[in-house]
Amino acid sequence: MASRATPRRQPSRKGSMADVPKDLLGEIQRLEELFTVDTAKLKAITDHFVSELAKGLSKEGGSIPMNPTWCMGYPTGHEQGTFLALDMGGTNLRVCEINLPEEVGEFDIIQSKYRMPEELKTGTGEELWGYVADCLQQFIEYHHEGENLDNLPLGFTFSYPATQEYINHGVLQRWTKGFDISGVEGEDVVPQFEAALKERGLPIKLTALINDTTGTLIASNYTDQEMRIGCIFGTGCNAAYMEHCGEVGKLAHMNLDPDQEIAINCEWGAFDNEHQVLPRTPYDVIIDKDSPRPGQQTFEKMIAGLYLGELFRLVLVDLHSKADVKIFEGQDISKLQKPYSLDASVLSDIENDPYENLQETHDAFKSHLSIECTKPELELIRRLTELIGTRSARLSACGVAAICKKKGYKTAHVGADGSVFNKYPHFKARGAQALKEILDWEKDREGKRLGRGHDPVEILPAEDGSGVGAALIAALTLKRVQEGNV
Ligand code: BGC
Ligand code: MG
Repeated sequence: MASRATPRRQPSRKGSMADVPKDLLGEIQRLEELFTVDTAKLKAITDHFVSELAKGLSKEGGSIPMNPTWCMGYPTGHEQGTFLALDMGGTNLRVCEINLPEEVGEFDIIQSKYRMPEELKTGTGEELWGYVADCLQQFIEYHHEGENLDNLPLGFTFSYPATQEYINHGVLQRWTKGFDISGVEGEDVVPQFEAALKERGLPIKLTALINDTTGTLIASNYTDQEMRIGCIFGTGCNAAYMEHCGEVGKLAHMNLDPDQEIAINCEWGAFDNEHQVLPRTPYDVIIDKDSPRPGQQTFEKMIAGLYLGELFRLVLVDLHSKADVKIFEGQDISKLQKPYSLDASVLSDIENDPYENLQETHDAFKSHLSIECTKPELELIRRLTELIGTRSARLSACGVAAICKKKGYKTAHVGADGSVFNKYPHFKARGAQALKEILDWEKDREGKRLGRGHDPVEILPAEDGSGVGAALIAALTLKRVQEGNV
């Protein structure tokens, strides 16, 4: 079954599964069944997704947060000025200064990247904000030494779910992406952040608190007005899109103009937290159970970069533990037993290994894990990465398709960013293939007509949402304030 959904192995491949012993072959087949999501399942997931998006917007709410962002509509292209942007994603911290030109065009940007120290992710809020403010201070001292500055407007890209009552406010709903910092969940992060700025006497004014997906949506639409959705497929995964206020039941009490547009940060990582449709494997269950927030981010944990290496590792450790499967026989697998020791780039490298003899994979296992793999083991490892990477791309497509269906978009550009989207081999092609299956373009004459040689819905590389997007949203916010439109 299910084989139509999985890209065929490259024809250039030398050697064949015929050399693989029966026990491993049986395991490969079992893994194929576990990890393959066929067309019918993709469609069922998408349909459920559509109704969950709507539920999230309602007054009662659902498991997808669908957070209103107070970013009201797309940029015009005339946003202008100099802005700071701070990007706190899952892996790095980045500070940028962006100069938006009078008309859409080349923006000047200077930036510095700082690594988020691992200890910070399980420390206290005070340590976190202190570190973030120190990075900002370094940036300002380096680029504006001796200048007399005041109230530099800052767009802060805080890529976690937050409840916002206005744009420079945000109560952290919960940490995601493995963060577990005390004293921040359930609190407004803005005063905490501002206190750290004040302590250091920094001349910065937080103008807008945004999500990376909202930034991606706005930055992408700034240069391509067909962009309708902003997505991140990186350490975490999520999307934002423009909704009419009239559709957002939970804002009904505010009597907003129903035709006014507002960007919604879906926080779709939380999709199917009640386990109704996603084909979870025993490995997904372990990932969830051992995470700092069990029960949360079910969809994200099956897709996002943070978890791909861990899924791969859990499968290999499980196979090794089975008496009737002979894998890594007589080898010390203690290095492989360390949780989260493999990141998604390991899978990328394996998928990029030219098929001939999987020499690079062999050498990587040897040097990083002290495991000497046999040829059949290498075959299994390669197939496993394909299965995990393919599932990630195909499930991701369900989210995109669901937003298009909800909005009735027959055609759209989708701006995407993040390490998995940008670097994981075949992610784009696998996602496009899944969209085609879900939205039935092959059969749909109208789909073909609308596509005119391109797919009707195309997922394309985005503009820098957490930098340029944050600056644009800060500019839009200042303009609204000037116009008294808040
Ligand atoms: C966060 C989102 C974010 C996404 C991508 C998720 O874990 O909850 O806010 O947009 O990661 O960075
Ligand atoms: Mg990021």
